[in-house]
Amino acid sequence: MKIERVELYNIKMPLVEPFHPSHGKMEDRDFIIVKMMGEGVVGWGETASQSTPYYVYETTKTCWHIQCDFLIPLLLEKDISDPKELVSWFAPVRGHNMAKTGLEQAVWDLWAKSKGQSMAEMLGGTRDRVDSGVSIGILDDLEHLLKRMTGYLKEGYRRVKIKIKPGYDVEVVKEIRRFFPKVPLMVDANSSYTLNEVDRLRLLDDFNLIMIEQPLGYDDIWEHAKLQKQIKTAICLDESITTPEHARWALEWESCRIINVKAARVGGLTQAVRIHDLCQERRIPVWCGGLLESGIGRAHNVALASLPNFSLPGDISASNRYFQRDIVIQPFELNADGTISVPRGIGIGVDVDEPFLNSLVIRHETFH
Ligand code: MG
Repeated sequence: MKIERVELYNIKMPLVEPFHPSHGKMEDRDFIIVKMMGEGVVGWGETASQSTPYYVYETTKTCWHIQCDFLIPLLLEKDISDPKELVSWFAPVRGHNMAKTGLEQAVWDLWAKSKGQSMAEMLGGTRDRVDSGVSIGILDDLEHLLKRMTGYLKEGYRRVKIKIKPGYDVEVVKEIRRFFPKVPLMVDANSSYTLNEVDRLRLLDDFNLIMIEQPLGYDDIWEHAKLQKQIKTAICLDESITTPEHARWALEWESCRIINVKAARVGGLTQAVRIHDLCQERRIPVWCGGLLESGIGRAHNVALASLPNFSLPGDISASNRYFQRDIVIQPFELNADGTISVPRGIGIGVDVDEPFLNSLVIRHETFH
């Protein structure tokens, strides 16, 4: 298959409320949608970048640069016989996984549509619904946090994750457990601790948490292995796992007992499936993280999360958790049983609301 045309849309979408992980507050989403055309079919992908380099080093501007100047020229000169080939085509560009992912997803969608299959079928998905969890950012007012949790649990979410940082951790979890002793609960530190704080992290062992996500350095695997030996709670790695090789090292060193798989962080769906398969072989559960994606990225995430070893609820919430209006005509909704249905239509299985997408554009570029 020849790619005939690629369009990039840098868009800005307002969030229903600011989202606050330990590395800074996000007021809106500034990211890139990819539209790709080949042999009369249209494919869509999402580069779930942020305007700041605080989660990964990439920003929406670096993604735009890498896509326009390096990745798209590579795509336009090739004949695709399998979307998995993109991993090696893009390999000369070191890192820049988010930039790669938006384009790779669009190729997968295009490919699935040309074969008349859904994305879930293409990737090897086995479920028609995926368990949905919700992530709550840092909220200074504890009463507000408990109220938000009550609301999400009433909506049906199957597990709650809260963001923590030093000074906003043990007491907050203790208070949550006082009100919700049995709710499936986990915490995400986004690399805000060091090994010197092991005593503080060990206190979290008392609260029956499913896992603690990425407590130490964003690029660390070694010290997490040291920490895992000193705490009972399972460590889950997120930021540190950017390739299947990193996942293998983490498993060999026993740096974690769970991995959060985000296609955007690992350079695309092919690499995400490889990490899933590696973990499955070694009986390590994975779950699908989120980066506040629009309905396009969300559709790719839901398809990925339908694979069998995604055995823990993911951060795949309904569209209305983050956006008043989504850019797809069929926004993702939470079923009464706390699941999200995997789209059955061909490709990503949702239609893009192009007039609305166009109304959000801050920069647009077309390549032939
Ligand atoms: Mg995380």
